[in-house]
Amino acid sequence: MSLETPSSSMTHDLVAKGEKYYLPVYSPQKFILSHGRGSRLWDTDGREYIDMSAGISVNSLGHQHPELVAAFKEQGEKLWHISNLYYSEPAIRLAEELVSLSFAERVFFANSGAEANEAAIKIARKYASAHFAEDKREIITFQGSFHGRTITTVSATAQPKYQKGFAPLTGGFVYCNLNDRNAVDQAISEKTCAVLIEPIQGEGGINISDLQFLEHLRQLCDQYKALLIFDEIQCGMGRTGKLFAYEWTTVIPDIMTLAKALGGGLPLGAVLTTNQFASVFSPGDHGSTFGGNPVMCAVARAALKVINSRETLKNVEKQGATLKARLQEMNKKYDMFSEIRGQGLIVGAELKGRFLNHAPEINHACHQQGVMILQAGKNVLRFLPPLNISDEELNTGLERMEQAFSTLNFQE
Ligand code: PLP
Repeated sequence: MSLETPSSSMTHDLVAKGEKYYLPVYSPQKFILSHGRGSRLWDTDGREYIDMSAGISVNSLGHQHPELVAAFKEQGEKLWHISNLYYSEPAIRLAEELVSLSFAERVFFANSGAEANEAAIKIARKYASAHFAEDKREIITFQGSFHGRTITTVSATAQPKYQKGFAPLTGGFVYCNLNDRNAVDQAISEKTCAVLIEPIQGEGGINISDLQFLEHLRQLCDQYKALLIFDEIQCGMGRTGKLFAYEWTTVIPDIMTLAKALGGGLPLGAVLTTNQFASVFSPGDHGSTFGGNPVMCAVARAALKVINSRETLKNVEKQGATLKARLQEMNKKYDMFSEIRGQGLIVGAELKGRFLNHAPEINHACHQQGVMILQAGKNVLRFLPPLNISDEELNTGLERMEQAFSTLNFQE
């Protein structure tokens, strides 16, 4: 591949146009990415970056993975879009594979995480309205959660900063503190139709839902005939070292939502559930024009095969341990973090002392040294590297990160 290296003035020009023409809802770094390979990316000025963010847990096999590119090309030359008035082979085969690898018996394909959660919420409410009293509409969610940006999923998201200015929100959501059994004991009632939870909160700061807490939720949901919904949109698909995060627990959810890494870098979401809950839907009750697109599903099948391999899942555990150990070492040197937490390759480092509230500047300094990291709010550095990141890529990324940390000069 010949690498075009346009002048910086072209970069400046494009960034200025991005700032002028986009709805101002993002604040992207001021460079233009041009291409990637494995866990490396390059910008249009030829600068190289180690990717420790994977497009926010989407490019879980890095960039241009040969098996995903082959699946994309093969399906791209056959059939792109057909709508859900017709069947296509990639979507049916993907549904079969997801069912065979999980607790589920049925799959609905959407285009994003928010849409997958919307569908899950609709199943829970429809099931309640079909089987129970009219007022069984409430859904319990947790402080620090993130479930999407549509009005209903932002209403489910128990973080005021995402809701501000968008009232009236969708009613019926009740918020509890994560891992607080008493709070849920107080909040749950015959009116509860579902409990929606991320086994590991991503946007909220890599907060782990305790095993005993999840077991307690399962027991309460059974007692109150409410559905337990796991949002594995960020923490699922191999990110923790098992294909699904719930596999680390003894708890089986009634519904699980997936997106992000599911499409191998292309937009695809899914709702997985059992026949019992799926059966409340009949034709016309729900749908999506693009959901189950043959190209997305063909690439998703290729991604699923590689993600669910022993090699990839072992790599997640190995590199996750290295990442945490190196962050601990850096912490000894710079005294930056009050806690380093996570599982596999979903890791968060909470800032303390003079670093408090400085995640955006630290993130920027890392980019300047050629390593892409993420933040979760202003106080947590978040790391979601590709699951197949190599020793060399991870080591280079960590060296660049340490270089960035050495330049930081915040006052207490
Ligand atoms: N749920 C979780 C746990 C997420 O992390 C996200 C996105 O960050 C979503 C839902 C929403 O997904 P999307 O942005 O694809 O709508």
